[in-house]
Amino acid sequence: MNKSTLLLQNQRVFLLPLCVFLFLLASCTVSNNPQRSELKLLQKGKLKDDSSFIYHLPYEENKTHLLVQGYFSRYTHKNRAALDFKMKKGTKVCAVRDGVVVRLKEDGNKGGSNSKYRSFGNFVIIQHADSSRTGYWHLQFNGVLVNIGDTIKQGQVIALSGKTGYTYFPHLHFIVWRSDGKGQWTQIGTRFQTNKGIRYLRPFRFYRNKKNN
Ligand SMILES: [Zn+2]
Repeated sequence: MNKSTLLLQNQRVFLLPLCVFLFLLASCTVSNNPQRSELKLLQKGKLKDDSSFIYHLPYEENKTHLLVQGYFSRYTHKNRAALDFKMKKGTKVCAVRDGVVVRLKEDGNKGGSNSKYRSFGNFVIIQHADSSRTGYWHLQFNGVLVNIGDTIKQGQVIALSGKTGYTYFPHLHFIVWRSDGKGQWTQIGTRFQTNKGIRYLRPFRFYRNKKNN
């Protein structure tokens, strides 16, 4: 075997695992949900004539939080149009629009970085006039400040954030679902009013809630 054949073989030995690794990386990390590419365009402001509802950020006016995971993020949101806001335990969580409380849980008292904690996650779900729903997760034990059937105003404090359920650190996991009217629910991305204007939120950025008065 001459030197160049040996070199070629060495390269193959090296290249094969590299290709397998790159293939796994690509297939594992990027969601193929068609909403993902549309949301990318919306985030960059490349889709015009958007008449969708403008949501209030899920925290108090004039407060700032870091978005640690965005829509269809590679980490735990691969197939979720969900948002994770970093929040200290006990932070006031606010309703993003008017609605009625339809489901809640606040007796969970455990949380951590293991899926065995998933069922301990406290949450509130609110139904809106267009029959969409919003969900707020990982709330503090006994941290839900509203009851099922309560009518909620946009911006109203509804809960205290926490670290219950399957979560690595204290944060608010927030979701919007659209209904097809036949029992099928789809998670969707939405735009928010921030102090810098109306935005589709992107991860690793701080968003300050607008001060209205
Ligand atoms: Zn999340």
